[in-house]
Amino acid sequence: LTPPSRVTLDGRFARELAEMALPWQAGEVPDPRLLALNEPLAAELGLDPAALRSPDGLRLLVGNLVPEGATPVAQAYAGHQFGAYSPRLGDGRALLLGEVVDAEGRLRDVHLKGSGRTPFARGGDGLAVVGPMLREYVVSEAMHALGIPSTRSLAVVATGRSVRRETLLPGAVLTRVASSHLRVGSFQYARATGDADLLRRLADHAISRHHPRAADAEHPHLALFEAVVAAQAGLVARWMLVGFVHGVMNTDNMTISGETIDYGPCAFMDAFDPATVYSSIDHAGRYAYGNQPVAAQWNLARLAEALLPLLHDDQDRALALAEEALDAFPGQYSAAWSAGMRAKLGLPEDLGDDVTAPLVDELLTLLRADRVDHTSFFRRLGAAAHGDARAVRSLVLDLPAFDAWTERWRALGPDPEAMDRVNPVYIPRNHLVEEALAAAGEGDLEPLARLLGAVTAPYEQRPGLERYAAPAPEGFGAYRTYC
Ligand code: AMP
Ligand code: MG
Ligand code: MG
Repeated sequence: LTPPSRVTLDGRFARELAEMALPWQAGEVPDPRLLALNEPLAAELGLDPAALRSPDGLRLLVGNLVPEGATPVAQAYAGHQFGAYSPRLGDGRALLLGEVVDAEGRLRDVHLKGSGRTPFARGGDGLAVVGPMLREYVVSEAMHALGIPSTRSLAVVATGRSVRRETLLPGAVLTRVASSHLRVGSFQYARATGDADLLRRLADHAISRHHPRAADAEHPHLALFEAVVAAQAGLVARWMLVGFVHGVMNTDNMTISGETIDYGPCAFMDAFDPATVYSSIDHAGRYAYGNQPVAAQWNLARLAEALLPLLHDDQDRALALAEEALDAFPGQYSAAWSAGMRAKLGLPEDLGDDVTAPLVDELLTLLRADRVDHTSFFRRLGAAAHGDARAVRSLVLDLPAFDAWTERWRALGPDPEAMDRVNPVYIPRNHLVEEALAAAGEGDLEPLARLLGAVTAPYEQRPGLERYAAPAPEGFGAYRTYC
């Protein structure tokens, strides 16, 4: 098996898009200590877990051992943050180590977060804290297990150094894996340079890595845009169906691949409410649960603007093409969401929207009014298809309305087994994540391991894990997340 120093890390991004890749080194980590290692993912990448646990393995995971031939780079990108444009964001505390070819022949980025200041750091310290990195590890792996496209987490390594936040906190580096780190903000950056050749190379790079079928289209760059629109419509629909609130849908946090990226202030919604916001900095609720589809479409409009020079020589014509492609988003989103909702309710695919849409609308009104726990509701509803509605009824206040709804729904012949395949039992509930991170902060990694065990097999109900399936206790109160 390959020792860490001989791992092959390609530098395709750095080679093809040198203008957006700044060769850089990770900060020295004096005392690396492994907190989490994703062995199945390591195997997928052709990396030996035992070798990664060795001293050289840990040095590789924090960027201090650079395999021969690798060129770690900080990537340049721009972005709209809460609607305001920043021409130069970039990896302020991150590095792309390089790309590996995985077991299925796919190119995957190996990337660090919390690896020290880069020239893009602006005022930041370039560092990351153990708690938030473990949280990204748990939530991204839960998303993947739910079947939702996501960046992955290979490892979290504690650095042994303190990081100054409101207090001194223990530092960590997350080793992240993604099909790429191309973002809407990458295109905004390339466009803003005014270098048409760079923009074209970036688009071609994105087509070849993520949307290869676009290469065969009559207008490959328009087809790229259409593919990103479709991927994001599908992605955000999946978020909505599991109650995921991303929290910081800035254009630099939206991928071209359609993978969820940047698990900062994200959280899973407990009580169903479209106005749900967790992020402490999202004062206006721009990225509230119910706004996510609109926020995604807004970001895609920014991508369209960046791509305009590639769409047509005549910019009026380019704009018309972009608008037409973007107009597909609401329909694609609704179709994905409606199909997903139908599946959550266990209803046959051929049932028309005229039947299901009013049923779903009524249900959501009821869930919202009664502040019903989203995840528990859908999972427990499965038993009600068999006729045992006790568990689900215990979540609802307006029982006459709910019973009337249930009767109509049951008449449509829901399939409870099918429901259990799409309605998770275990999600990384906020109170459980906090509990696991608090214990990890005290040096006890057991609660984190148990939580990971539950959420990485989310559809399979298992004895002994009851508390992982239960809504937050009353005393947990309002939840706030921080970047
Ligand atoms: P985010 O909101 O996580 O997408 O980050 C937005 C920008 O801030 C990116 O350019 C990050 O690289 C940068 N950034 C976030 N935290 C830090 C930090 N502690 N040090 C340096 N740059 C940071
Ligand atoms: Mg980000
Ligand atoms: Mg972030």
